Amino acid sequence: MPQQILCSECGFSLYEGDVLKSPQDIIKKYDGKCPNCKKKLVFDHETMLVTSTEGLS
Ligand SMILES: [Zn+2]
Repeated sequence: MPQQILCSECGFSLYEGDVLKSPQDIIKKYDGKCPNCKKKLVFDHETMLVTSTEGLS
């Protein structure tokens, strides 16, 4: 089953493929920002999804 990592803000597909990728690698690849909506990306350990936030305090 292919892995898909989406931006929780805009639904942009940050990664899609058969190879299991570390979310940290995805975040690093995109320089910590969603290329589509420019939201900051953070890795959510609970959901195993890359989510975007307004910024963590
Ligand atoms: Zn986005």
